[in-house]
Amino acid sequence: MFSIFLRIAASLLITSTACQCETVKTKVLVLGAGMAGISAARSLNQSGLTDFVILEGTGRVGGRVWKVQFGGKNIDIGGNWVHGISDDNPVWEMVKSYNMTGIVSNWDSIKVRNSSGHDVTSQWHTVLVSLDEPSEAAYDLAVERNATGQPDMPLRAALKSCGWNPTSSMEKAVEYASYDWGYGEEPDVTSLLRGELDPTPELYGESEYLITDQRGYVYIIKQMAESFLAEDDQRLKLNKTITTIQWSDDGVTVTTKDGSRYTADFAIVTFSMGVLQSNSVEFVPGLPNWKREVIFRVRMSLYTTIYMKFPSKFWDDDEYIVYVGERRGYFTVWQNMEAEGLFPAGTNILQVTLTAEEARRVEAQSDQATQAEIMAVLRTMYGAGIPDPTDILVPRWGQDPFFRGSFANWGVGIDDEGLRKLQAPVAGRLFFAGEATDLAYGFIHSAFFEGARVAGAIATCVGGGPCEEGYQPPRRGCTCPAADNFDIQATVDNGSCLYPTSGGDRIVPFSTSFYIMVVTAFIWNDMKWH
Ligand SMILES: Cc1cc2nc3c(=O)[nH]c(=O)nc-3n(C[C@H](O)[C@H](O)[C@H](O)COP(=O)(O)OP(=O)(O)OC[C@H]3O[C@@H](n4cnc5c(N)ncnc54)[C@H](O)[C@@H]3O)c2cc1C
Repeated sequence: MFSIFLRIAASLLITSTACQCETVKTKVLVLGAGMAGISAARSLNQSGLTDFVILEGTGRVGGRVWKVQFGGKNIDIGGNWVHGISDDNPVWEMVKSYNMTGIVSNWDSIKVRNSSGHDVTSQWHTVLVSLDEPSEAAYDLAVERNATGQPDMPLRAALKSCGWNPTSSMEKAVEYASYDWGYGEEPDVTSLLRGELDPTPELYGESEYLITDQRGYVYIIKQMAESFLAEDDQRLKLNKTITTIQWSDDGVTVTTKDGSRYTADFAIVTFSMGVLQSNSVEFVPGLPNWKREVIFRVRMSLYTTIYMKFPSKFWDDDEYIVYVGERRGYFTVWQNMEAEGLFPAGTNILQVTLTAEEARRVEAQSDQATQAEIMAVLRTMYGAGIPDPTDILVPRWGQDPFFRGSFANWGVGIDDEGLRKLQAPVAGRLFFAGEATDLAYGFIHSAFFEGARVAGAIATCVGGGPCEEGYQPPRRGCTCPAADNFDIQATVDNGSCLYPTSGGDRIVPFSTSFYIMVVTAFIWNDMKWH
């Protein structure tokens, strides 16, 4: 008997101290199993590069595409729209091929209520129409500035200069629903050029499909994973929180919290910008300045959809309900999850979204406090007699160490050079992919494309093609082949070109001679009139 106890005690000791760690060598490490990571691994596999390992910190695939159970339903608390339902959008193609249920959002199905509960929808439409002109002018301004190489500016400044200066609660609510609700941040910090010139609507159209499929939006990512991973495939390792990424010209070594070590020739980092901006993953040596700078310039927005389950439905039937209160962005946009085509009647689930500072504030307080705030707003809209919810779900994307925010909202002034820095590998070994490294940042399709792009670059290199080495700052010099001092490696012309005269002598730089010509013409003109 005694020996049995001893044996049990000894085995307990071994279990409690035993390391779950391993040491693995592979060709490519894919860090993160969100859309970008799974897309990258799938592309590697498709190109014949099957020697890879995916390391994921959570216990699931999907990342910011996350299905949870709430109020008797499976709901998507992260990405839940397909942005652009065109056949050119691979995400839409997948959603369509799996017959995923949902509806094309109808922005006209809207009820607007003020803080006295009055229906002010017609005023809403009037104000919305008054935003049309300034908003189109701001778009035109973005097009013009982009075409003529003028610097970026905050969307707020552009809107103001185009005549939009919201002062009333209604104007602020219209502005919030038109901009903040999409970008996750205020126009004051949103880029005019990058925000207004988002290629997504141009590429795939403006329609958006809201998914309510009970398999969750993540189903498409799981299907992608299953297309190349066998059941219990050792190339996918969940619950592996990465703590250190050591890199050199020779390769990458990754250490996880459980003490495992993974070495590879290449690694693909797919963490959100929020994670990269935190100190939770240490890079050894630290990332080069050009990479660090651009990572910190990207803004990580916060977009929090709060779900509530009620004993009965008391709200409007429309798809969207807007609350116009005194405080800008305070529980402004609501979604009726029982609107036609969404969840069946009797599901009694209502959703409200907060962004930026309001979302951050709510994340930091108890769910009870948030519920009290929500109920106070709902009671101004629907009367004191409405019931409290039986359940509430407040996601905390900002506090979650695996995300630290919702999606990227590129800062003002991130230009093509910034994009190159975001996308460029470090030392030709450490590659970066994710929603934030795409010009059309912020979406599930962005992550899809970025994963595939980086996998393609690695597969090309491994296959003997050209290898991407890293970011090269632009070289300034004379870019004109006809000039004496033509610099074949120059990527940006600095106006220094020297051209031979007919006799073979050099003349002054073009910029100087142009100046002389203009001054001479001016003097000549002046002399003519005196
Ligand atoms: C609330 C919300 C609403 C959204 N709405 C939409 C929408 O309607 N439509 C749309 O297209 N997009 C939407 N998005 C954005 C979209 O979800 C993301 O752009 C996309 O899913 C990002 O994919 P990713 O692979 O780049 O990053 P992620 O999904 O973040 O994948 C990175 C992975 O790395 C893992 N990871 C992080 N740190 C570590 C670590 N230390 N060790 C190991 N693993 C780690 C994470 O767990 C994660 O799985 C929304 C996002 C949120 C949060």
